[in-house]
Amino acid sequence: MKTLKWAAMLAATALLAACGQGGGDKGPGNVDGARIAAASGNGEWLTVARTYDEQRHSPLDKINTTNVGQLGLAWMYEFDTDRGQEATPVVVDGVLYTTTAWSKVYAFDAKTGALKWSYDPKVEGKKGFDACCDVVNRGVAVWKGKVYVGVLDGRLVALEAGTGKEAWSVQTTDTGRPYTITGAPRVVKDKVLIGNGGGEYGVRGYLSAYDSATGKLVWRFYTTPNPNGQPDNAASDKIMKEKGAATWFGEGWKATGGGGTVWDSMAYDPELDILYAGVGNGTPWNHVKRSDGKGDNLFLSSVLALKPDTGEYVWHYQTTPGESWDYTATQHIILADLTINGQPRKVLMQAPKNGFFYVLDRANGQLISAKPYVPITWASGVDPATGRPIENPGVRYENAPSLQVPAPFGAHNWHPMAFNPKEGLVYIPAQVVPFAYTPDKGYTFRPGAWNVGTDFLANALPTDAAQMAAIKAMVKGELIAWDPVAQKARFTIKHPYFWNAGVMSTAGGLIFQGAAQGEFSAYNAADGTKLWSYKTDNGVIAAPSTYEIDGEQYVALMVGYGGAGALSAPALLPERPRLPGRLMVFKLGGTAKAPPYVRPEQAALDLTGVTSTGDVGRGFALFHQNCQVCHGPNAGGAFLPNLRQSQMLLSAESWKSVVIDGALAERGMASFSRFIDAKGAEDLRAYVLSEARGAAAPAVPPAKGGAATAKR
Ligand code: CA
Repeated sequence: MKTLKWAAMLAATALLAACGQGGGDKGPGNVDGARIAAASGNGEWLTVARTYDEQRHSPLDKINTTNVGQLGLAWMYEFDTDRGQEATPVVVDGVLYTTTAWSKVYAFDAKTGALKWSYDPKVEGKKGFDACCDVVNRGVAVWKGKVYVGVLDGRLVALEAGTGKEAWSVQTTDTGRPYTITGAPRVVKDKVLIGNGGGEYGVRGYLSAYDSATGKLVWRFYTTPNPNGQPDNAASDKIMKEKGAATWFGEGWKATGGGGTVWDSMAYDPELDILYAGVGNGTPWNHVKRSDGKGDNLFLSSVLALKPDTGEYVWHYQTTPGESWDYTATQHIILADLTINGQPRKVLMQAPKNGFFYVLDRANGQLISAKPYVPITWASGVDPATGRPIENPGVRYENAPSLQVPAPFGAHNWHPMAFNPKEGLVYIPAQVVPFAYTPDKGYTFRPGAWNVGTDFLANALPTDAAQMAAIKAMVKGELIAWDPVAQKARFTIKHPYFWNAGVMSTAGGLIFQGAAQGEFSAYNAADGTKLWSYKTDNGVIAAPSTYEIDGEQYVALMVGYGGAGALSAPALLPERPRLPGRLMVFKLGGTAKAPPYVRPEQAALDLTGVTSTGDVGRGFALFHQNCQVCHGPNAGGAFLPNLRQSQMLLSAESWKSVVIDGALAERGMASFSRFIDAKGAEDLRAYVLSEARGAAAPAVPPAKGGAATAKR
């Protein structure tokens, strides 16, 4: 009997050991909660943020401050899309999984770069219209042999890790509403967690949990009340009745759904068994138009703590009560154990758009501290007793515009931070951008369109060069090394542009970050000294990841410019043609050479004799209501086609074929016939023609060509 028992125990131990070593005998992609927990001490990168605490800090140190200068390209792959690349590569058992714009998934041999498989969910091009901030995707989740991706059109798809074949696919959203998914799923206890986006247009936000094996919905938590006043038969019903519903007023939110989308951040504490998720802005932004200017509007702009098995509410912390500025709390959440006032504290840290760095007790949501991490003008501080921001007068722009910082871009956007436990620093890709919030007095809900209740006409750029220079001088991009205990910066790395890139920290004493101007750099984690830099030849916004194979450490990065900044603030960013995304993987002594990007020639536009019957003034208004968020204020966009240089300007017919008939829908330019009639389209053309003729030479001449490539 005794012998038998020992034999059974030995067999069980051997099985456990096999699981712990990457589970090769269980097939590819064999990740579970125990393995993710163990990864905190090894060189794996198993989830989009490496571990459940989402610190994005690797214990690997083979690449370190003494040898990082020898880092070179090991291999690379060029993708078939030139839109923004925001994914962090996940690496499991020697296979690197990543996603590109349009929610495509790729699996590579992480050592050699050989493509194992790819998957294209074939998102309809016109769906790009519903994506406020580019058709991006931030990466996959891997769990028990499957790879999960959230698709731009609202599907959640499970793929077989070994082949890329679809295992299951579910529609997680109402396809009649402008929902999108850009965030990476997380998997906790066999549940795939996914939210969605659409908070600028008019959707009701929620977080869902699907069974990882079958795709069956397990629970859903709505972040805003049901507009029809009824329960949803969802995990949120109880708390919405007890706390949430009473914080909403008026009718404005009922048409839109209120917003509150859970579009990016999550984290999980296995000991407390609590799942954390960040909630987005209200729809419309303008609190007066959404909720008669009354009420906190729970759970907008909040960190939500939920039980992962059931979605049951545990606590919430609302960073921006009565949100009115697109100040989301969807930014990266990091869990860590800190010593504060001599006491060990289990904290949750977030640098949401509103500019305050929050340190919360993650067991109960109590505020430990909150301080501004960049200069802000909308509030003077956070009341430590109530946890509420102390707003400055006039910032709610009820009757008059308020020029303030941060802008809707946020003091920090989705770009992942990183936490180095040895240095005790959080590295924040931060930005300082002003914005004139102006009441849209004539606001009415327009289904499917942007519905923000803020008048964008006020954000047309000044024609005066001195005023434009003054705006540019206010705008800053920086990587801040933030001490969350002292609540102050230890050092700051200044960037030439505001739209930042994600960060990674390593035990090699390094932080890695890309940049808008097209480089990827390593800095000393202790003091910010730049130790290595590589010209990527294309802008970077994504965060890197790192892994070890056969004793060699690799650093992987998605290269490719885009996102909200590139679309809607082109005048403040480097001007370049759209270039195909690339995955670039580095190692010490790497000698691979990236081929130079091909920038096709573009013929200059000859507007001689080109006329329009349209009304320039009306076109100006229509443009800034309908077009500027993707094509830039004053039609000066460079990322999505610069309309001032568009061949479509040459004739009313070709212009109408795109704007009204949707000729370029497959490339992401949907028909605007829902919002603009043929007369309006010609007014738009008249206005853009006037800009094309009157435009002074841009400060940086556009690189040759690129605008008319066949990529999407
Ligand atoms: Ca938003």
